[in-house]
Amino acid sequence: MKIFNTLTRYKEEFVPIEPGKVRMYVCGPTVYNFIHIGNARPMIFFDTVRRYFEYKGYEVNFVSNFTDVDDKIIKAAAEEGVDSSEISERYIKECKKDMAGMNIRPATVHPQATKEIPGMLDMIGELLKTSHAYTAPDGTVYYRVRSFKGYGKLSHKNLDDLQSGFRTLKVTGEEAKEDPNDFVLWKPKKEGEPYWESPWCQGRPGWHIECSVMSKKYLGEQIDIHGGGEDLIFPHHENEIAQSEAVSGKTFANYWMHNAFLNIDNKKMSKSLGNFFTVREISEKYDLQVLRLFMLSAHYRSPLNFSADLMESSKASLDRILTCMEHLRDVLAKAEKKALSAEEEKALEELDALVKKYEDAMDDDFNTADAISAVFEIVKLANSTVNEQSAKQFAAKMNETLEKLLYVLGILTERKQESLDAKVEALIAERQAARKAKDFARADQIRNQLTEMGIILKDTREGVKWQRA
Ligand code: AMP
Ligand code: ZN
Repeated sequence: MKIFNTLTRYKEEFVPIEPGKVRMYVCGPTVYNFIHIGNARPMIFFDTVRRYFEYKGYEVNFVSNFTDVDDKIIKAAAEEGVDSSEISERYIKECKKDMAGMNIRPATVHPQATKEIPGMLDMIGELLKTSHAYTAPDGTVYYRVRSFKGYGKLSHKNLDDLQSGFRTLKVTGEEAKEDPNDFVLWKPKKEGEPYWESPWCQGRPGWHIECSVMSKKYLGEQIDIHGGGEDLIFPHHENEIAQSEAVSGKTFANYWMHNAFLNIDNKKMSKSLGNFFTVREISEKYDLQVLRLFMLSAHYRSPLNFSADLMESSKASLDRILTCMEHLRDVLAKAEKKALSAEEEKALEELDALVKKYEDAMDDDFNTADAISAVFEIVKLANSTVNEQSAKQFAAKMNETLEKLLYVLGILTERKQESLDAKVEALIAERQAARKAKDFARADQIRNQLTEMGIILKDTREGVKWQRA
């Protein structure tokens, strides 16, 4: 398997630290609102990476955090007049619902920053002891970037270039920094903010320290893969390397993987630009399986532009897959075991070649776009070769193979049940139409059907209302 490593900028052969095992860490969302579909891109992609490693026989330990203490969470809490933990817990719950909707499996562990403060205090203490960090008079603890020789190696930046960029920029409150690139490990609390006790001041952690601490705690000092969106390369991941490697003296992560942005009108989709759709909004219009297929239809390192046209085409693609799977199941239910025909023998050879095509695509830096093309070639093959006369084992092989390959992509092979509400609404609309057309027999029939479903109708001035009996 080859993986493009941001650190070296090469596609490299994947060699795990421990044979047969993968330890991976992916930076998760800051939970102050519903996640948007830009946030969903790394979630869907790295879930697929995990599934493909498992398909190849690896055991994967997959850690992804929730950042649950942050300025944006504190601001949201102040606006609602509630505790910041109420905001973060609420949106962690909502995020998990969205993940389930997108068929993203829960990580092995989902640590939360606020539950890992003691580990952060320890690591900051270590960094101070080894002079990789220093305290300012107000109790802020800064990381001393000049103390870490490899600083800039991930983002391919040079500290002197970075510093000259800062020359004209004086940031008030940060005069105590030795170098403008030094970053906060711990900062004093402000009025009304959540805080924890520490040897330096009552306060809270900077953002970067949590990932170094959680990665070490749940995966060990050295991991195979660290991932996230490409906006995290600098400074977040650069700073994680500086923290972790200064403490351990060892390589923190062997492979750094970064997904490109999900754009809208060719601009990054983000909360701050206001040009975003939440996953929840999309779920009102589409089955989230459509979103998943859309996301994987491009290579993860290519920017992907969100558009209604592309979503409609993913919807049609998903439908083609599901129709094929239904057909396979129908045939399988009735088919009998018998000797394979020559045509079937030939189709199974083609199937093997297409599975190989799929695996080659995934082995080549997780090229999900090409893997999906291979799946569609298999769908076409199945549609043209599986029929009422097929041998059972032939139909079964087609079915199993598609199931297995689609599982890796996280595409479910059964149509989702239409929600009960949608069904009720549709029946009510049909009844209204029947009444308008003076087809009272049909209207009564629908009313009876709804009664059997436990739905009571009430004709009101504003139209027909319904409730459950
Ligand atoms: P945040 O909550 O902003 O820290 O983001 C959580 C994850 O989503 C990070 O890995 C980000 O890099 C990623 N992300 C945010 N916006 C986008 C986007 N428009 N496209 C792709 N990834 C994104
Ligand atoms: Zn992180």
